[in-house]
This record gives sequence, C-alpha cells and structure tokens, in this order.
Amino acid sequence: MEARFCPRCGAGLDDKPPTTCAACGYALFVNARPTASLIVHDGRRFLALRRAMEPRAGLWEVPGGFCDGWEEPAVAALREGREELGVQVTLGDFVGMYVGSYDYQGERLPVLDCFFLATFDDGAQVTLDPRESSAMAWFDLDQPPPLAFETMDRAVAEAARRLGR
Ligand SMILES: [Zn+2]
Repeated sequence: MEARFCPRCGAGLDDKPPTTCAACGYALFVNARPTASLIVHDGRRFLALRRAMEPRAGLWEVPGGFCDGWEEPAVAALREGREELGVQVTLGDFVGMYVGSYDYQGERLPVLDCFFLATFDDGAQVTLDPRESSAMAWFDLDQPPPLAFETMDRAVAEAARRLGR
C-alpha cells in the first residue's frame, strides 16, 4: 500500500503504512482484503472460467470476487456465482482461506481468499458474463490447469483432498 497522506487529516506520512499519522494520531494498518470464491464440482471435476479481465487475463480461475463492506464471505460467494455464472449454486463445505497477492493499478495488495465448495442444481444453465469470462471448462480436480492465482491452486488441491480425489 503506497498511501503517502493521512486519509483523516491529509497530513503527509513519515513512513509507508503500517504507520501512525504524526499530525493526528490516526493509525493506518495494512490488512488483507477478503475475497470469496466457489469451487463448483460434480464430485470428480471442477468448473473453471477463463479470465477476460486484467490482472491475469487469459488464465483459468474459479468464480469469485471481493467481498463488499460488511458482506459475509459465504454471501459474497453466492452473489459472485449469480453474477459470473448466472445461476444460484448450492454452497457446500468451507474449503479454507489463504493469503495471496493481487496486483491493482501498480500496487500489490494482500488479499484473504476464502473458498467454498458448491454444486449446481439439476438443469442449471450457466450464462457467463462476457466482461468477466471468455470461456468455461470442467477439469479433473486432481489435474487442474495453471490457475490465475496461487491461492486457487492451494484451494483446489484441498478440495480434491476433501472429495477423495
Ligand atoms: Zn492524520
């Protein structure tokens, strides 16, 4: 995080965050921002989307995104499923959470990536959002392609272990 001014009083900061504003005493922390993602599976395979947006456009990922404000990660995961897949998924077990890096406008931010298992209901019709994803494919849980974010590799490996793959 490259903040150079106090967001409360506007004074210049002596150090990069984490630091405390010398003028007003406001403490600036550096915290991982929470995200929530879905590992949609059929017991053997999981669903991956090809990223249409930077960062990491063109690489495979699992559906997900940043949590809004006070939104619970499980609620965010369901919302991202509706936005990116066009369907209401059924959430399964929580897989885990992992700290990763996200490059945003020249900054490298810490993120806290939360992953949930999920399944489709019978007859679910996926509709991709073309701004987000250019393709979808099912991959064996134990043979995933290179994924856009390292935390996704870890989560898919854990999901494969949980599901006995
Ligand atoms: Zn200040």
